[in-house]
Amino acid sequence: MPLAIWWIRRDLRLSDNPALATALREGYAPLPLFILDPRLLRNRFTAPMRLGFLMAGLRALEADLRARGAYLLVRRGDPGEVLHQVLAESGAERIFAEEDYTPYARERDARVARALPLQCVLGLTVHHPSNVIKAEGEPYTVFTPFSKAWKALPLPRPLGEVPARWPTLPRLPGESLPVLPPPALFPAGEAEARRRWRAFLEDSICDYARARNRLDLEGTSRLSPYLRFGMLSVRQVVHEALEWALEHPTARHGVEAFVNEIIWREFYQAILYHFPHVTREAFRPQFRHLPWREAPEDLGAWQAGRTGYPIVDACMRQLQATGWMHNRGRMIAASFLVKDLLINWQAGERWFMQHLVDGDVAANNGGWQWTAGVGTDAAPYFRIFNPVLQGRKFDPEGRFIRRWLPELARVPAAYVHAPWTMPPDLQARLGVQVGQDYPLPIVDHALARARALSVYRQG
Ligand SMILES: Cc1cc2nc3c(=O)[nH]c(=O)nc-3n(C[C@H](O)[C@H](O)[C@H](O)COP(=O)(O)OP(=O)(O)OC[C@H]3O[C@@H](n4cnc5c(N)ncnc54)[C@H](O)[C@@H]3O)c2cc1C
Repeated sequence: MPLAIWWIRRDLRLSDNPALATALREGYAPLPLFILDPRLLRNRFTAPMRLGFLMAGLRALEADLRARGAYLLVRRGDPGEVLHQVLAESGAERIFAEEDYTPYARERDARVARALPLQCVLGLTVHHPSNVIKAEGEPYTVFTPFSKAWKALPLPRPLGEVPARWPTLPRLPGESLPVLPPPALFPAGEAEARRRWRAFLEDSICDYARARNRLDLEGTSRLSPYLRFGMLSVRQVVHEALEWALEHPTARHGVEAFVNEIIWREFYQAILYHFPHVTREAFRPQFRHLPWREAPEDLGAWQAGRTGYPIVDACMRQLQATGWMHNRGRMIAASFLVKDLLINWQAGERWFMQHLVDGDVAANNGGWQWTAGVGTDAAPYFRIFNPVLQGRKFDPEGRFIRRWLPELARVPAAYVHAPWTMPPDLQARLGVQVGQDYPLPIVDHALARARALSVYRQG
């Protein structure tokens, strides 16, 4: 059987894997290869927890391959050089990979494809960004029409299972994977991803539309790290969710809301694909030169979860401790940095990438530009989250806050979102001195809001 390299990047799964399936369909024995690219292992966005998750995911994939009589070849170096070498050593004729849309990946793949027989196939998104476009061929820059066009396209069917026995492969020498601590909240691997997905479908999707915004409930799927590294196929997820809704009419509303979030993921991937400059600057030109504050102390307080606004601080400490943050929390924390502290959204974008296990250039950049009101979708800049009201609405009893801010563990619900309003005698009784045991607010929200509005208006 002729040999082809299956170049694994962010598609760490065997089922419904278009790169792998294409190699098999075309009659090749796929040689699984992962390249430890120094530029991906160490850059301004590197997050130790995300790397730990990736390495654990590769180890899980290695075990799945071994169970089928195959192995994972790991090499280190410049991808073009490594591929050239492995082609020469193995006699492989082709290279198959899943297409990736970041500017770095596209430049890398174009360079490789000029010199070597690389074929990239669709798998990162359900629909390719170049297929979800306006009638006149322009890309969408607003979510709702994008989602309508996306839904109007026929849904591709997931591909079948991979054969239980792998075709025979030549044994090539490789490196072992670096050992890094994986995030406790997210055991890696395809089997775990599938288990979590099925549990979410069976137990929680019915309630998703109602519970998804609540910080104190586990109302969302927490599948983002698995989707980020393709341990779960997004196409399979959408397909199975829609099937589930057909069989369980009470789940229909939840499934619709869930698929809508998947379409947000597809939307931001498409924005990055069509407008790669968003990684460097605001999408909207009028907001590229806002007079951001240079305020390292405020930035440090935000990063450490010590702003004095409990809902912001709880979210930021959750991020540091677990490598994950709830979507509502991401919006609240991001809004606070940009609008209340008037600090450049790119500082927040970087911090999130340095800590999120699901850190994804497209989704993170999209989320930050949206929250800052400088991005594609029509999020008006004058919508400024009030951190106290957000807390009361999405963590009504303060349970989420108390979980992440042990210093406020005894503060009653009436004060937990604004502890500085607690009468001094109550503070004394509870043993929580605001300003000492927990910080006073580093800005006054009403004044900060007025400042942001005036800066943006002149933007
Ligand atoms: C400032 C900011 C930064 C963000 N950074 C990232 C990031 O780096 N990586 C990332 O995957 N998501 C990011 N998001 C989107 C969203 O917060 C997470 O996808 C979500 O919280 C993951 O939790 P979940 O898997 O339980 O989501 P669920 O609610 O269960 O949603 C299912 C899936 O849909 C996708 N999704 C959901 N919401 C969004 C969204 N708004 N944009 C894009 N995709 C979405 C994710 O893949 C998610 O796993 C960011 C949002 C904001 C506001």
